[in-house]
Amino acid sequence: MREERRFRWVLKAINHYLTFFLLVAFVITCCMMLFLRILSDGLQITFTGENISLAAKVTFWNAMLISLIFTGIDAVRRKWTVERPVKRIAAAAEQMMQGDFSVRVPALNGLFSDDGFGEIAACINKMASELSSVETLRTDFIANVSHEMKTPLAVMQNYGTLLQAPNLPEDKRMEYARVITDASRRLADMMTNILKLNRLENQTIYPNAVTYDLGEQLCECFLQFEREWEKRGIEIDIDIAEDVLVTADAELLSLVWNNLFSNAFKFTESGGTVSLSLTADEQHAIVRVTDTGCGMSPEVGAHIFEKFYQGDTSHATAGNGLGLALVKRVVDIMQGEIGVESAVGVGTTFTVKIRREEHHVETDR
Ligand code: ADP
Repeated sequence: MREERRFRWVLKAINHYLTFFLLVAFVITCCMMLFLRILSDGLQITFTGENISLAAKVTFWNAMLISLIFTGIDAVRRKWTVERPVKRIAAAAEQMMQGDFSVRVPALNGLFSDDGFGEIAACINKMASELSSVETLRTDFIANVSHEMKTPLAVMQNYGTLLQAPNLPEDKRMEYARVITDASRRLADMMTNILKLNRLENQTIYPNAVTYDLGEQLCECFLQFEREWEKRGIEIDIDIAEDVLVTADAELLSLVWNNLFSNAFKFTESGGTVSLSLTADEQHAIVRVTDTGCGMSPEVGAHIFEKFYQGDTSHATAGNGLGLALVKRVVDIMQGEIGVESAVGVGTTFTVKIRREEHHVETDR
């Protein structure tokens, strides 16, 4: 096996170097002969056949010797500057192919290395780190979904078992059935949100832009919570500028308003206030949703747009931490801005700023 490899290496060397240098030696010898001929004609010197043959031989073997020396030097140079970095890069790529994204190509910018390989190595390292963060996101996502599914499924299993008990009083039967329905609704909501988020993350073009009155849309969405604020005695304060037209995908924007309103009501105790305001300038519409609810600490505020993040676990049964991730994605798609100001025990204000004119949205995905 080793012999065979050595033999192959020799063949490769002959193919790559010797053929080339033999050709060079031959061409140099021919040039030399031509030079001698011109010289002898010009100086009226007569060379004997012996002289010429000796000169040709010396030139040829000199050229061969020098070529061989350079072949050796070049082989060593290639080993250090080409073969070594290529081997390292190939080894890293192979490890990545096997799913190991922690691999990094060691620095190649040594004294003798080609800068081009250094650039390729830097690109491969960047690719590996990107892939590893995508992989972490994917595994985190699966872990989160499984975790979120387990709770309602366990509730459904337990209450389903309770329902099987003989001679169950009617009120208990109704209560258990309601718990099961709530848990299944929660599961269905989560699936709907995951599907929406997935669609939004993979979609690249949003062609459904229409021009409509944003104030009207905000009122329509807000009114859906009427029963909630009446039931819990929450004060409402609405200040909406008239005739604010926007050109955008209405269905996507309604996702934003519904999520912000639902959070405002969810996190506000009875007797609190939820305010909605719409203002506009030439280019932007600004929507503010304020509540006097529990508020959040800066640590919680820093994570609220992450998928599955829930800062307030006491409200966890009424959500799955996907609402604000959806909101953020939609606002990004609309090339808008979203900000939050909050203080624990005082309340929260979400401010959404969107562009009013039509824009062709093509995300970078
Ligand atoms: P969910 O409401 O399902 O928990 P969201 O993504 O809508 O998920 O919100 C993420 C977290 O942000 C919430 O768990 C909560 O801690 C915080 N949050 C969002 N809106 C408010 C608000 N109006 N007041 C206080 N905290 C809020």
